[in-house]
Amino acid sequence: AKDSGRNTIQLFHSSMQHAASERLRLENELRTALSRGEFELYFQAQVDARSGHVIGAEALLRWAHPTLGEQSPALFIHVLEESGLILEVGAWVLVEACHACAQLLEERIIDEHFSLCVNISTRQFRQSDFVERVEHCLRNNRLPHGMLKLEITEGIVIQDIDDTIAKMNRLRQLGVSFAMDDFGTGYSSLTYLKRLPVNVLKIDQSFVRDATSNPSDAEIIRAVVALGLSLGLEVIAEGVEQQSQLDFLQSQGCHCYQGYLFSRPQPLQAFRALLAHAADT
Ligand code: C2E
Ligand code: CA
Ligand code: CA
Ligand code: CA
Repeated sequence: AKDSGRNTIQLFHSSMQHAASERLRLENELRTALSRGEFELYFQAQVDARSGHVIGAEALLRWAHPTLGEQSPALFIHVLEESGLILEVGAWVLVEACHACAQLLEERIIDEHFSLCVNISTRQFRQSDFVERVEHCLRNNRLPHGMLKLEITEGIVIQDIDDTIAKMNRLRQLGVSFAMDDFGTGYSSLTYLKRLPVNVLKIDQSFVRDATSNPSDAEIIRAVVALGLSLGLEVIAEGVEQQSQLDFLQSQGCHCYQGYLFSRPQPLQAFRALLAHAADT
């Protein structure tokens, strides 16, 4: 028994080592990817189901891996965050997204009512000069400040709620707005939600997925939509794939959504074509 215990420990140890070296390898690959310009930005439409109009887009990071092809951030965002690389990548995302949006605006494919949504990691938000970075980015691209919406998660309140609120208010004064992403999956309490100056609640796709088959997911959606509307917030559902999911959301008063039902995230060129086509019909 003693021996097998030792073997187990050794096995555990070596698999931990394996995981650590895998992580390091990925971190190095990501660093190279950044310097080689292998990151790309995709755009996913946000739609108002009542009018059928595209009201905005979420910018989503992709890694065009040289051999494995396009990679979702779900596979590597944690490594970017733990290594601090997210600061550089996040800055790139912000610049790239604002630049793309300014281009579409100049081409008159969108107008200034369009929302550009950018995911901001907590670590990025915590940077002491974050507000200035956002301001520079908007100014350099001559983007109307009201077009930018920053998506943050509930985890942002864990570290320093007062600093968070102060920064959010400074950005709001510039015209920037906020969406609470993945709402309901984190740790924050309703008290935090009441204190944070957010404009939009995003219902996480994990609730939307089984909304029409799982009564407790349906109840959560019901509650989140009611809460959002009672606080005067916009509510957007993510991960809508089926008409029945959209029908349920609309029956609860949630009319704005993003999801494969309307379109997948796409590179700028394809997204531009989608908007041009939507405007024609
Ligand atoms: P998220 O912010 O919750 O983004 C929504 C995710 O749902 C995206 O995954 C999107 O592609 C996916 N999605 C949209 N519609 C559907 C649908 O109908 N069905 C399904 N199954 N999925 C759908 P993605 O692009 O893989 O991104 C994963 C996560 O990575 C994001 O989740 C976000 O937390 C993070 N992320 C993405 N881009 C950035 C970024 O630029 N910065 C930061 N900090 N995080 C990012
Ligand atoms: Ca998001
Ligand atoms: Ca989500
Ligand atoms: Ca998220």
